[in-house]
Amino acid sequence: MAPDLDPSTVVVHSGRPERVPNAPVGESPVFSSTYVAGGDRGYGRFGNDAWSALEQTLGELEGGRGLTFASGMATVAAIVDLVPVGGRVVAPQHAYSGVLALLDQQMEQGRLTVDRVNVADTDAVVQAVEAADMLWIESPTNPALEVADIPTVAAAGRATDAIVVVDNTFATPLLQQPLSLGADIVMHSATKFIAGHSDVILGAAVTANDDLWNAIELRRRSLGAIPGPMEAWLALRGLRTLALRLERAQANAAFLAERLLEHPRVSRVRYPGLPSDSGHERAAKQMSGFGAILSIELGGDAEAAQRVCEGTELWVHATSLGGVESMLERRRRWPIEPPTIPQDLIRLAVGIEHPDDLWADLERALANAF
Ligand code: PLP
Repeated sequence: MAPDLDPSTVVVHSGRPERVPNAPVGESPVFSSTYVAGGDRGYGRFGNDAWSALEQTLGELEGGRGLTFASGMATVAAIVDLVPVGGRVVAPQHAYSGVLALLDQQMEQGRLTVDRVNVADTDAVVQAVEAADMLWIESPTNPALEVADIPTVAAAGRATDAIVVVDNTFATPLLQQPLSLGADIVMHSATKFIAGHSDVILGAAVTANDDLWNAIELRRRSLGAIPGPMEAWLALRGLRTLALRLERAQANAAFLAERLLEHPRVSRVRYPGLPSDSGHERAAKQMSGFGAILSIELGGDAEAAQRVCEGTELWVHATSLGGVESMLERRRRWPIEPPTIPQDLIRLAVGIEHPDDLWADLERALANAF
């Protein structure tokens, strides 16, 4: 597509069939496990039109070539597999707990070693990345909302030949493009904002480096963690409205963050969009918006936090984020969540409902919890 189009136009128009008479307007999933011999497709584990359309759109948004996977975690596993046996990974202290658990499992098996760092502490990341094979960054982090200085840490990683990976799930390709900030690979749990309707599990990687793309694609075909055609198509359909959904959800998040800051039961609001947030300045430099996720703490009262989560009517008490419906949960209810995440921390994944309704429901649940 024309290089000067706004990303909000790219999400609508990229990855569509050629405009010839009788062509469908949008790509369709192809339900075939194999293809007639003689072409370049070969077999259903190697390619599908719905994957290609989604990959083209994500590639265009992130500035590279895309690869979709069966889940965000399948994407993570394929990328981590690039680390040589005995290699070293620098990873965040706080990040999606499934990623941290996977790295821990690989360390326990003796496959690699992992150094955990606070991604917001740039000096610590730069120091740790010396002699690392991979630098794994999440920014903003799940659920602590820490913000890494991506250009600085990516430059440090590249200088030491580490593969720099950024999990861009929270920001989405519309708010942050890590490849343009110096990362080698960007990954997404497309389950979240990209698909956007809490009805599909899917992952994606994008890189502008052909060798890395080939290495990741080889892992997808050999490990077999491929997306179903229907799932890829659902994610593409969801992606078409990402700009609109995100605009509303982000405005809702900013509104709620301000309100929560004033609430007497809320001891801390973590949201990079708040000028008082420690990640605000950095996020303002490298992101074009602050996203639709925030976390709050309730003065150390984990039981009250649990009651808030169980006490809403509109907000869905469920894990996950990035759907049109607002969700909340106390992250430490999961045993694998890092112990440095406060017990009373509630992650608020803000959806696209009317902000007044969201606030009224949350305020009521907070009042009833104490
Ligand atoms: N990365 C982040 C930041 C996530 O929040 C998640 C899931 O919550 C994942 C990766 C894993 O993605 P999936 O659940 O699609 O496997």
